[in-house]
Amino acid sequence: MLTPGRSGACDVAPAADSAATPGFHFLQTPGPTNVPGRVLRAMGAPTIDHRGPQFASLTLEILAGMQELLRTDQPVVIFPASGTGAWEAALVNTLTPGARVLAFDTGHFARLWAEVASRLGFDAELIDGEWSRGVSESELERRLSADPRGELAAVLLVHNETSTGVVNDIASCRAAIDRSGHPALLLVDTVSSLGSIDYRHDEWRVDVTVGASQKGLLLPSGLSFNVPSERALAAAKVAGGARAYWDWRPVLEANSQGYFPYTPPTNLLFGLREALSMLREEGLDAVFVRHSRHGAATRCAVDAWGLQTVCQESERASAVVTAVLAPDGSDEREIRRVILDRYGVSLGAGLGALAGKAFRIGHIGDFNDAMLIGVLGTVELGLGAAGVPCDRSGVAAAVRWLAG
Ligand code: PLP
Repeated sequence: MLTPGRSGACDVAPAADSAATPGFHFLQTPGPTNVPGRVLRAMGAPTIDHRGPQFASLTLEILAGMQELLRTDQPVVIFPASGTGAWEAALVNTLTPGARVLAFDTGHFARLWAEVASRLGFDAELIDGEWSRGVSESELERRLSADPRGELAAVLLVHNETSTGVVNDIASCRAAIDRSGHPALLLVDTVSSLGSIDYRHDEWRVDVTVGASQKGLLLPSGLSFNVPSERALAAAKVAGGARAYWDWRPVLEANSQGYFPYTPPTNLLFGLREALSMLREEGLDAVFVRHSRHGAATRCAVDAWGLQTVCQESERASAVVTAVLAPDGSDEREIRRVILDRYGVSLGAGLGALAGKAFRIGHIGDFNDAMLIGVLGTVELGLGAAGVPCDRSGVAAAVRWLAG
């Protein structure tokens, strides 16, 4: 088994921000994440002809690797884009403008996806939700049952809500949709769970999975993914809106021979091949367990500091990001500023309704116990330096948990 983290920050460390801050800069946002040295080196290889035979075998190998990662036999569509592009692609391929879609106000990214849908001319209904708990399956079932004419064309769910650190139970949401007997397509965002939290496209009968490269997939931003089910592919044949760049059909056709209908980001694809190898070598199950240990250890530290996480349901707590509420009278922006300026660690900002209220500790991607202890130790130092009242026993609690 590989030692995650060894090949990353300790191997090809990102440059320190300035000569005044020696040592490694820790990128502990929940994405982009620390890119392992192996992946950086793979991306540094000379670019090859994207119409040549070598390229076709690269594409076919990567597409098979992505199917393995997403636990699917369905085709995987890769776009040179960030996750937002893949959100748009999922919508425009399956739905006709004016179609109604259902989303839940359970975090910044859930809201943003619904907003993207509205801006594209879909009729997005955003159901009130709790940012501290995630999507209510009973509410989902109730809303779909109240639509006997099947006017809602799709349900948009975020698997791991990166702004809150809450994981939605996609299998249970699928079961709720099934109980309602509603035909809506199920579209799921795995941007911050792909490659770090267990996810099963086929088993959970997801219609379009949306993903991106810059988090658990160990790459910089720039690749995003759609996985369409058979139903989604059928919907794509009749969807009535204009699409060109995001159209799955020319991509699938060219991919079948190992090519793309436009100039692909070859060096990111070199990186993806290496990242998939690293995940395979460690073993996907081991990758998931590693993240979940780090999530649990982080929550032990937060608890010992006397602070609270945004997520209020332990069984929904994210393995990859912990959003921590800044206590009354303190501002997460100031806490993060002190931690970055004094100790060179970047934490995730509070997003949307949590701006100023919660900072986020990313424990995702190429990351190991030593890095986690370093990051938690730094947060503990930073909380003290920022004058936030807290018990200095968080690191000890995390270490005890990791040891036990
Ligand atoms: N969905 C989730 C869950 C995210 O965390 C993000 C970004 O962090 C996005 C979508 C948007 O992706 P991108 O910023 O790559 O466009």
